[in-house]
Amino acid sequence: MTDAPPLCCGVPARLTNGAEIYPNRPDLRTKPIWKCDRCKSYCGCHPNTTKSLGVPADAATRKARSQFHDQVFDPLWKNADKTGGYANVDGPRSASKIRKAARGRLYGFLAEKMGLAREHCHTGMFTVEQCRQATEALRGVTYPMVRKWHDAKKQQREQAA
Ligand SMILES: [Zn+2]
Repeated sequence: MTDAPPLCCGVPARLTNGAEIYPNRPDLRTKPIWKCDRCKSYCGCHPNTTKSLGVPADAATRKARSQFHDQVFDPLWKNADKTGGYANVDGPRSASKIRKAARGRLYGFLAEKMGLAREHCHTGMFTVEQCRQATEALRGVTYPMVRKWHDAKKQQREQAA
């Protein structure tokens, strides 16, 4: 079953594949891709689905998003299990659990810094300007700082309850 098309330029995007978008990449031939026929923007899908990764983006936006991901966002959560503070990282399973939780916390932290609702804070939805803001918001931030922020939030909620 095909997932709902993302909207771009006020119209639903069209589902196509890598054969159209990346003609020189036979390895991506069958990769599902949503394309906006009005502005020629496109975006990929979550692995093995046709669920769009955010909304279609033009080249500059795609570049800003992937730079933010590769250089700023991903290094922060992907090394979370190695930043100390976890006594029982006993193997790849718990490390991957820690990283998954870290990613969620990092998104929460970023949403607050950017003044966005958590559900609107997704890299796949960022504009070029928001990528810049997000990079700025995470400048000098380390994962232990994010964890501390998360623990303080949790404590506030518990005290309020
Ligand atoms: Zn468009």
